[in-house]
This record gives sequence, structure tokens and C-alpha cells, in this order.
Amino acid sequence: MSIYDEKVWLAQYSPAQRQPRTIEYDNALAMFDATVERNPDGDIIRYFDGRITARELDELSDAFAAGITDAGFRPGERVVIYAQNIPQFVIAQLGTWKAGGTAVSANPMYRARELEEILRDSGATVLVALQSLYKDVAENVVGSTGVRTVITTSELDFQSANSGTLAGAERVDCPGTIDLVTMLERFRETPVPPVDVGPDTVAFLTYTSGTTGPPKGAMTTHRNVAFNAQTYRDWIGIDADDVILGVAPLFHITGLVGHIALSLLTGAPLVLMYRMDPEATVETIQQQRVTFTVGSITVFIALMNSENSSREALQSLTKICSGGAPIPPSTLAAFEEKFGHYIHNIYGLTETTSPSHCVPFGTRAPVDELTGATSVGVPVYDTVVRIVDDNGNDLPPGEIGELVTAGPQVVAGYWNKPEATAKSIPNGVLHTGDVGYMDADGWFYIIDRKKDQINASGYKVWPREVEDVLYEHDAVREAAVVGVPDSYRGETVKAFVSLRPGSSATPEELIAFTKERLATYKCPREVEIIAEIPKTATGKLLRRELRTVPEP
Ligand code: AMP
Repeated sequence: MSIYDEKVWLAQYSPAQRQPRTIEYDNALAMFDATVERNPDGDIIRYFDGRITARELDELSDAFAAGITDAGFRPGERVVIYAQNIPQFVIAQLGTWKAGGTAVSANPMYRARELEEILRDSGATVLVALQSLYKDVAENVVGSTGVRTVITTSELDFQSANSGTLAGAERVDCPGTIDLVTMLERFRETPVPPVDVGPDTVAFLTYTSGTTGPPKGAMTTHRNVAFNAQTYRDWIGIDADDVILGVAPLFHITGLVGHIALSLLTGAPLVLMYRMDPEATVETIQQQRVTFTVGSITVFIALMNSENSSREALQSLTKICSGGAPIPPSTLAAFEEKFGHYIHNIYGLTETTSPSHCVPFGTRAPVDELTGATSVGVPVYDTVVRIVDDNGNDLPPGEIGELVTAGPQVVAGYWNKPEATAKSIPNGVLHTGDVGYMDADGWFYIIDRKKDQINASGYKVWPREVEDVLYEHDAVREAAVVGVPDSYRGETVKAFVSLRPGSSATPEELIAFTKERLATYKCPREVEIIAEIPKTATGKLLRRELRTVPEP
């Protein structure tokens, strides 16, 4: 029996959500073409005081496609985008698709070794980087990879002259690279060679540690992207009159789909927040009459704690989703009390192209009495979820096991990693590594994880990557990294380290050592030096025990 045969999840849907769905689009480019046709002069991106209409975005992305094609880029190749939330991110992504390529996003917090790994693993031929990131990080590593063309851009490029909001940002000279704006001007009139982009063409490689360890590029197809952009649109009810706050990082699947693709599909303007500054975000919500956003719960906590936030300031923001990490019920209640708006929990992974589950808009998530976990909702359209035991057998409602998901949003596999694909996504069925259950009414709850992953404010950290860096320190004999509870971030990274006999190192020194080599969110906030790291008889780290390790 296939996973699709048994619709264990058919439960508390509204009649409309229960209908099998006719997918309108299975190609992300086609959905943007329709938007340009419908409303060419509507704003599609807003960035500080700057605005880009759908028609302009269409032209700019055509110019990007023509420019990289002229530089030797060919369909099927990869473009890595290494930047914050800036309009050029969207232009480069759309332009890459139009050139028949795959867009790969790199977290702008990455340090040199992390960027190099993505450039190498993806086999990218083009790198688009923010000037400052190129100078500080990329310049040193790009030569040892397959990148042939480097395009650089400034965060100041698409904001209007009268905006002083990016104070401190400055243009940086990047000799030997192509300036993005100059390239777009030069290729504005150049026709883009026709390319074959279909539902199975890989739109993104989205890097994730997934369930099996080191970062891997999840192959997100055009069908995956279009499907879940439509899921957001239909489950939350988004149309061209909405205004989307782009506060989740665009390099993460939530930003790629819940911001960019949703805006391309609906024509609702995407208001890009360069960084998560709570005061500026509140101001932007009020000025732009933002109606929808999706982000991690820490964004909403920051908005609550912001000095200028009030019921009035957030009045327009009626459609809110939080995903990527658990939402404590007390935070939900406090947010609702302060602003009068309910935060809808959504659940998914990079491998499900953002949501596989959603609390349907207008309904309220029940809370598990024992663990206090807010339900992550019910599976979205055409998505089948099972709870299975360690042998893969179905468990009845109420029993705890691993969530296993199949649906049109499950990615095609991991780039160049057939073994990891076979392990985590056999036959297109995703083994999420998340542990939970479905109640008698069909609501799902996530209460634990099987995978070795730390979830710090929605940012996922793979302990081995941090341990590997600690092992590079001369004084370190053994290292073990775990997630420990944190009231703001949900979890934070803690390292336990034992030192070589005769060596010394302070926790501060070890933290600084990791910061030079890894993005800050992966670095331990605390290092505890202990005599011996607890292990099983076969030498396997006892991570769970470490979370409650006795004092040395
Ligand atoms: P990522 O691939 O970064 O999107 O991370 C996916 C992981 O985030 C899932 O496997 C879960 O462990 C966690 N996650 C996502 N959404 C939720 C949620 N609403 N509640 C609890 N955990 C979540």
C-alpha cells in the first residue's frame, strides 16, 4: 500500500480545504508571468523608499539572465546568491530561473569555510555577492572553486536617494568582479535565449543539515515552489491587496517560498527588511500597512518587546504565521493580548519546501496538555502524513512516533547525495526525524526529535559541524555539542570539552575560536570544560545525558 492510500489525516478541515486540489501552476516562472500580465504596474518589491513594479522586475531579471548567459552561464548550472534581504536577491533568483539555472542561497552569516563548502558542493559557476561579503569572506575562497563569474552588488543600489535608513553602509570597490547594476543596464534590451524550464527543473538548492548530518542541497523543484506558494495563498488567503513583510531570511526556505514565491504568485508587494531591527520593523508595518508575514517565533517576541510596538501600530498585520520552531502557548497568548492577532503555527522542513502542516487560517491550535506543545496544525492539501514506529509501522492516533510525509512539496532529493536521499527520502517519502503524534481530531504535535539537530530561533545547527571545529583547537581532546533550553531562542548551543593533558584553554577562548570559523548562530554560547565526555560502551556520544551532565 502506498502512503497516499490511507488518508489518516482527513480530519478537522473546512470543506474547502478538504477538496482535492487542482494545481493552477506547477512552474514558478509561469506564476510570475501571469502576475506581470495581470498587474504590470503594481509594486512587487519595496525596499526602504525604493519600489520595483512587476514589469520592472520582469525586465531586470531578463537582463540578469541575458548578462550571465553572455558571461558563459548555461541551463542546468548553479548560481550562488550570498546576500541579505535585498531586491537584488529576487532579481538574481528570478534571472537564474530564466537562464534555465538553479539558484543556491548562502546564509550571509557564513564564514569562509562554510561558503566555500556550498560553492564547491553545488558546483556553482556564478556567485552573486553583496560587496562587503565578497571583500570580507568570498574573495579568499572563490578561486579554489568552480566559480567563473563573480557579480557584486551594494545594499544601497535599489534604495531611493532620499532614504538614509541604511546609515553606515558604504560601497566597496571589488576589482575583477562584474557590478550588478552595470550589468543590468547593459543587458536591458538583450533578448534572453529560450530555455526549457518545467515542473521538475530544480529551482533551488537549499542547504540543510537535514536528518542525516552535514549540510546538503535539498533539490527544490519548480513544482515544489509553485505548490507551496499556492498553499500559503490559499490556506492563509493572500491576494494582490495584501502586503507581505519580508522579515524571514530570504536564503531560508521560509523566505524563498513564504516571501518571494508568494509575492511572485499573488502580486502582493514584498516589503524587504534588510535586517531584523524590531523598531524599524514596527515602523515599516505601520507605514506600509503590512497584512501578512511568516517568520520564526523570535521575530514575534522581538516585536512584542519593541518599544514602539502597539495595537495600533500592528493593526493591519492580521495574517501571521510562525514556523521553524515550537511556539510556547504563553507567547501566543501574550502576543494576542497585546496586539489582538493570533499567530498561526506552521510546520515543515527545507525538504517540504516550507509548510507540510498549517493551523488553518481562522482556527486556533489546540495545546498538548502533557508537553505544553502548541499543535502544528493539520497537513495541507494533497499531503499525507503518517506517524510510524522504529520499524515503519503506522501508529494509531495518540501514539508517539516519527512523522513521515509525502506530497507535492517534498523535494526531489539531495544534490549529488544518493545515499542521504535513499535514507531520508526513500521513494519520495520524507522521514522527517521529528517525533510527535496526531490526536483523535487530526491535529499534529511535535514533541521531540530523532535527529541530532539544535534549533536556535529556527536556525538549525548540526552538532558535528561545531565539534569538528572545536577539535581543530590544539588543546581540545574531546568535544560534544548539544542544545540546551533558552527562554528566548528555544534552544541554544552548548559545548562540553575535555582538554588534552597539560593543555589549557578557557571557555571564552574556545568560543572565539569557533566564531572565527563558523556563523555566529552555530557557535556555543557556553562552553563547559569537563574531565570526560560521557559515551556508550561502543564510544557513541551520549548527547541526551550531556544536557543534564553533573558538575565536574
Ligand atoms: P528547516 O529545514 O530549517 O526548515 O528545519 C526544519 C525543522 O524545524 C523541522 O524538522 C522541525 O524540527 C523544526 N520545526 C519546523 N517548524 C516547526 C514548528 N512549527 N514547531 C516545532 N518545530 C518545528
